[in-house]
Amino acid sequence: MDPYEHVHLIDHPLVQHKLTLMRRKSASSNSFRRLLTEISTLMAYEVLRDLPTHEVEVETPLETTTGRVVDGKKLVFVSILRAGTGILDGMLSVVPGARVGHIGLYRDPKTHVAVEYYFKMPGDLHERDVVVVDPMLATGNSAVAAVDRLQEHGPRSIKFVCLLTCPEGIAAMTRAHPDVPIYTAAVDRQLDENAYILPGLGDAGDRIFGTK
Ligand code: URA
Repeated sequence: MDPYEHVHLIDHPLVQHKLTLMRRKSASSNSFRRLLTEISTLMAYEVLRDLPTHEVEVETPLETTTGRVVDGKKLVFVSILRAGTGILDGMLSVVPGARVGHIGLYRDPKTHVAVEYYFKMPGDLHERDVVVVDPMLATGNSAVAAVDRLQEHGPRSIKFVCLLTCPEGIAAMTRAHPDVPIYTAAVDRQLDENAYILPGLGDAGDRIFGTK
């Protein structure tokens, strides 16, 4: 199986421009956060391209016609805490009616295995389309664990959105969840010995929240 078959690389010039600004180590938390929100909004356009719509009647100032609207409530953005919050804000700005779920996972600093400490989802997940967001798909441990947990609730569909990934992360996700499409702005070279993406942008959570 081609591991890149389900990878959607969002290479729009505006996305790539903002990603480059975010990679700079001199970028402040404030600008890193703002850029991540802006990129997420742009990525939403591609990720939600197949969002179901239904027809409604609409009265213009001149006559009655029909138009299409999305049912935002059927959509759930699931943020992997804590860095997922950065993408969540941008996605919600374009689909404000979407529901939001949170999964708290931290990676054990020695083993890099994902450990769950929080899981809160809207009800009726089996009727909803889920978009899981986390800026960095590195080892894939958190992403795989998050999708494993979500699948226990049988959502209608699952997509995974990150800002950056690497061959190791794609391989792990594709092995565990070959049906989950991955949307990313870049596929970087590799992981280092501490499971950071190279060249990457450092620790996304620390950069969003200014914790280092
Ligand atoms: N998580 C991060 O925040 N950065 C990486 O490079 C890898 C995982």
